[in-house]
Amino acid sequence: MGCCDTPGLMPIDTAVSKMLDSIDPIDQTIQQNLDQAVGHVLSEDAHSPMHVPPFDNSAMDGYAVRIADLAHTVNLPLAGKSFAGIPFNGKWPVGTCIRIMTGAQVPNGCDAVIMQEETQANGEMIDFSQALPVKPQQNIRPMGDDITQGALVLPKGHRLTPRDIPMIATLGIPMVSVYCKPKVAFFSTGDELKPLGTTLKAGEIYDSNRYGIKVLLEKFGCEAIDLGVIPDDKVLLKQAFEQAQQQADVVITSGGVSVGEADYTKDLLTELGEIGFWKIAMKPGKPFAFGKLLATNERSESIFCGLPGNPVSAILTLYILVQPLLAKLAGHSEWQAQPLLPATTTTAFKKQPGRTDYQRGIYQLNQHGRFEVSTTGNQSSGAFRSMSTANCFVVLEQDRGRVEVGETVNFQMFSPSFY
Ligand code: AMP
Ligand code: MG
Repeated sequence: MGCCDTPGLMPIDTAVSKMLDSIDPIDQTIQQNLDQAVGHVLSEDAHSPMHVPPFDNSAMDGYAVRIADLAHTVNLPLAGKSFAGIPFNGKWPVGTCIRIMTGAQVPNGCDAVIMQEETQANGEMIDFSQALPVKPQQNIRPMGDDITQGALVLPKGHRLTPRDIPMIATLGIPMVSVYCKPKVAFFSTGDELKPLGTTLKAGEIYDSNRYGIKVLLEKFGCEAIDLGVIPDDKVLLKQAFEQAQQQADVVITSGGVSVGEADYTKDLLTELGEIGFWKIAMKPGKPFAFGKLLATNERSESIFCGLPGNPVSAILTLYILVQPLLAKLAGHSEWQAQPLLPATTTTAFKKQPGRTDYQRGIYQLNQHGRFEVSTTGNQSSGAFRSMSTANCFVVLEQDRGRVEVGETVNFQMFSPSFY
């Protein structure tokens, strides 16, 4: 326990390390068509099978010359053309130039391309007087300038971005070897939860967590299996856990892990696996369950994460605690949490010492180019609007109390998966 830890509460870093230490990445791989590969994680280093560009080519529309030919004259007659995809293949007489287009192969012996705008064409005679002096290799993109044959282009463990797809296409690679996405089954628990599109009766609310969990799991690179809403009924819950375990590497629930219900869920899960109920030193998001569901005939053991039911807590714990676990499982070894950045507060932030707060805030650059943050207002763990209107988490240290205007705090921009 560190100097500022609160007895009975598990520090966030400890919880994340315990979770990471208890799992191994998925080792099944598949060959994926490049146009379907974005968001998948490479299971092998990707090396270039070729030089890029594969031949010396022109960076400009203009004229290919031999610089030596311009030592005695500024006018050279045209001797041919080289277009992109249709190179000049003839004999290139000394003392002449070749019309060349961007991307076209430069003819053998060419040591510079002069851009069209620096020349004057008089019929078949080209005047280069405006282009002097000509530098060796100017406007020529040499073979292998970007990537040499055999070079490492993307490492194993890299999650493919939209920018990587044209990169790999440049190399002529139609299929890539990637890890299978983790299968994550999830369901909401609670008698009060009703599907969208129905009319609410007294005491009922709509099941919003499941929508958030699904979309985030997909953004995190998982295959999301939606098992719906399960009422607070022991028999139905047990069936749901069994069904989830048979289909998925990870089972995620929301609700039913706070003090009132923990024992109930605990009994059930103790029967089906090994479950720890943790109190995390995090606000919101204190009640959290982590463990394993035992292997069955259908499938090897599954990881279990029980998110608190309060909507802000559910999404926050999924983002802060479960996201690193899913990244490791997916083989995404480059994954990193967003860095903490300093900012000055322009509003006060209410806080009690004891837990690390992830308050929802709005950052912006002030006129001096420095970051400022303000609160989104109501920070109740049930008030989801605070999450929707935020663009960052203001991360207030465990031992800190109320923050006044003008103090320095750390904030964390949302990762692209949260947009
Ligand atoms: P619980 O953790 O089950 O005690 O739930 C805590 C609070 O979160 C209660 O106000 C629940 O009604 C609410 N809640 C639980 N699950 C959901 C859900 N799926 N969508 C929206 N609110 C929920
Ligand atoms: Mg509940």
